[in-house]
Amino acid sequence: VALLEDGRTAEVYIERRGKRSVVGHVWKGRVGNVLAGMEAAFIDVGLEKSGFLHVDEVVAMGVPKHRRQIAELLKKGDQVLVQATKDPMGTKGCRLTMQLSLAGRFVVYVPYGDGVGVSRKLLDDERRRLRKICGALPLEGGLIVRTAAAGASAQDIARDYAALRRLWAALQGRSEQVQSPALLYSEADVSLKVIRDLLNPNVEEVLVDDPAQHERIHNFLKRTSPDMARRVRLYEGDQPMLTALGVEKAIRSTLDRRAPLPSGGYLIIDDTEAMTVIDVNSGRNVGRGGSRLEDTVTKTNLEAAVEVVRQLRLRDIGGIVIIDFIDMSDEKNRRAVSDALDAELAKDRTRTFVAEISPLGLVQMTRQNISDGPREVMSERCPECEATGFVPSDETLAIEAARGIARGVAEVEDERVQVRVSPRVASLLNDDGRARVQTIEEQTGRSIVVEPDRGLHDDEVRVRSSAAAVA
Ligand SMILES: [Zn+2]
Repeated sequence: VALLEDGRTAEVYIERRGKRSVVGHVWKGRVGNVLAGMEAAFIDVGLEKSGFLHVDEVVAMGVPKHRRQIAELLKKGDQVLVQATKDPMGTKGCRLTMQLSLAGRFVVYVPYGDGVGVSRKLLDDERRRLRKICGALPLEGGLIVRTAAAGASAQDIARDYAALRRLWAALQGRSEQVQSPALLYSEADVSLKVIRDLLNPNVEEVLVDDPAQHERIHNFLKRTSPDMARRVRLYEGDQPMLTALGVEKAIRSTLDRRAPLPSGGYLIIDDTEAMTVIDVNSGRNVGRGGSRLEDTVTKTNLEAAVEVVRQLRLRDIGGIVIIDFIDMSDEKNRRAVSDALDAELAKDRTRTFVAEISPLGLVQMTRQNISDGPREVMSERCPECEATGFVPSDETLAIEAARGIARGVAEVEDERVQVRVSPRVASLLNDDGRARVQTIEEQTGRSIVVEPDRGLHDDEVRVRSSAAAVA
């Protein structure tokens, strides 16, 4: 699913069969280890890795938050209802909460919560109107009114709430019948979820290229917001839809380290274990000396501020992000770039926090993402270099192979020795590296034949006597 703004791909949501996001899923889980020191517990929900539940996410009626201690609230083996708030990513299991929330089109129902909260993105008058509508509902638990509720009628909201209450009742019923760990509720698939959560009156059109999915979405909207149902259209173009709209190209570009800027500069985006580092480069776009240089640099940095946020959204980058803008001497220009970045970040629905610019001119920020981005879904670690970007040079391989041959030859008694190595190493040893093999031959008085074996890795060396090889 792609979100386009002014014809450009702004966000993409990719889900592959068998690798669905678990955010929003509700399980009856079983408490594993309780870590008193970390004030957290691991919960087995039946996924590969146990989920992580922090004490702040435990529902404990009547115990004030600051007095809560995990060891007093949960014991190993306890059965608890939990919901995922973050997908498993990298080596970490999913993050869980006991404060369940069930999302509808206009409201989110929080069974263990209380009161009514209304999205701050709505205007004051509209917030008052919606608050009044919710005040008239037979409320059990808490309710959050979403931005999508703008303009919704009392009937729309009552219908949405009633559906969520039925869902909650069904979920509780199921919970009583099953043994943990068990999945009780699975969140809607990606297309329906994006429609439910992101569709608002600012969206001009929804294009769907699959007739069955089109019907599903159309029916969902006819039920929940009939006005929006009219904006859903079945795509019937000749080209594949995502190609025609340029989405495929945008998704593919998220695998590049480099992201171009309009005036010739570019960003270099690097992921490390701890953070994402974005370096701004002026490219060939450099004027000559003095004020012209400062103007050019400022222009590049302003373009970079826009592109950085575009890339953060498109790649759905989370965690710590460090941006290295090009140095500017003028305080006024530094402020302009910083303001431009803030203005762009205001368009990002994902929560971000920008710290002050550091003494070295680095912008430090954090961004909360809850699922893997397109890059993580579409790619895997490079097996050659283990994602370090470095592989041993030819010379290193040749030296290491020669050492392996010397060790192996010492263990073989025959005068004639056969050595098998990967094709790449074989060609290194038979061409320029022949001298290395000759040295071993002279030192040991053996005759060595190097042969390529496609079944071997570059760091493997097999040595045996030629007699054995013949036999
Ligand atoms: Zn590599």
